[in-house]
Amino acid sequence: MAIDNLKDLEKVLALKEEEKNWKEEGPSLSMLISDNVLSLIDPDDPDDPIRRQFVPTCYENVSSEESIDPLKEVEHSALSRLIHRYHNRAALLVTARCFAYCRHCFRRRFTSKDEGKITENEIVQAADYLRKHGEIREVLLTGGDMFTLTDSEIDFLLSRLKAAREDIIFRLCTRAFVSNPDRFTPSLMAVIRKHMHGAPFLLMCQFNHPRELNEKAVSAVSRFIDMGIPAFNQAVLLEGVNDSADILEELSYSLLYNRIKPYYLFQGDLVDGTAHLRCSVRKGLEIEKELRKRVSGVAMPQYTMDLPDGGGKIILTENYVLGLENGRWQIKSPFQGKREYPEKELI
Ligand SMILES: *Cc1c(COP(=O)(O)O)cnc(C)c1O
Ligand code: SF4
Repeated sequence: MAIDNLKDLEKVLALKEEEKNWKEEGPSLSMLISDNVLSLIDPDDPDDPIRRQFVPTCYENVSSEESIDPLKEVEHSALSRLIHRYHNRAALLVTARCFAYCRHCFRRRFTSKDEGKITENEIVQAADYLRKHGEIREVLLTGGDMFTLTDSEIDFLLSRLKAAREDIIFRLCTRAFVSNPDRFTPSLMAVIRKHMHGAPFLLMCQFNHPRELNEKAVSAVSRFIDMGIPAFNQAVLLEGVNDSADILEELSYSLLYNRIKPYYLFQGDLVDGTAHLRCSVRKGLEIEKELRKRVSGVAMPQYTMDLPDGGGKIILTENYVLGLENGRWQIKSPFQGKREYPEKELI
């Protein structure tokens, strides 16, 4: 049984003071710790990296230079659940529910809140919007976690969206491989398979620590990959969870061995109540530089920031290009010293 209150949590984990003092108030995110998440937590380690991601603490009750919607997603919403911030892609928030709530969730203005799941009417409206906006080539099905919807709800959703635009690449975004890997039943996989016509699906996972990639999770992801759906990982850089090149190197190779491409490594957004989980950008850049030396190109995620005030995503990386001097680019080598590369002469 998933745990949704401190009293029940205390029965299975010896709580630290900061955990006991968490208050569910204001813009806070509900507590929900699924059985699978609980099984991943080492109860003898008070600093367990999985525990840090799912057990709330009183540090969430503090807010400073933050907001509840730093990415201005509400402003960029074309419909109540459809965010159309980039010209050619959009995100559809199909539900506010997840199987477990991550304490670093950047969408806590919405996640776990009352909006619940998308109605059939809203699905019809979203399909209509996509039909009218031919410029949209990719749609993220997200939330919340889309796989908290029932098989028949997912069937209805995909039927309507595919009927509107078979040419759109739909990204199936989920954290359920960690929060509820049993969800990926043969009947759910049959629903997905039924809608694999037209443009491909892409699977977008969130694994933040190598220990999350256990046998159950890997086997569930492989059901998608074996069906021909490529898998990508979007991790979040989290203090005390994965803020080291060693852990991220292990994460990257665990992903790659299991055919999942490390795609993004997100810098934490400036969301209320998540400051204690954010890593400093200075440290993030150092980790990025070190990781780039250690892993191959395919194993390297892009360290990415979603700019405050809805400025869009940018890649954060060590600056190797120093400038153009006398027609020659001055470029720092990641190994040692500097190199020059001539600018092409325009004739
Ligand atoms: C991140 C994001 C996307 C997808 O962006 P990619 O960089 O292509 O992964 C689309 N819509 C919204 C609102 C997003 O935040
Ligand atoms: S699974 Fe995603 S939407 Fe749900 S709580 Fe975690 S980060 Fe937020």
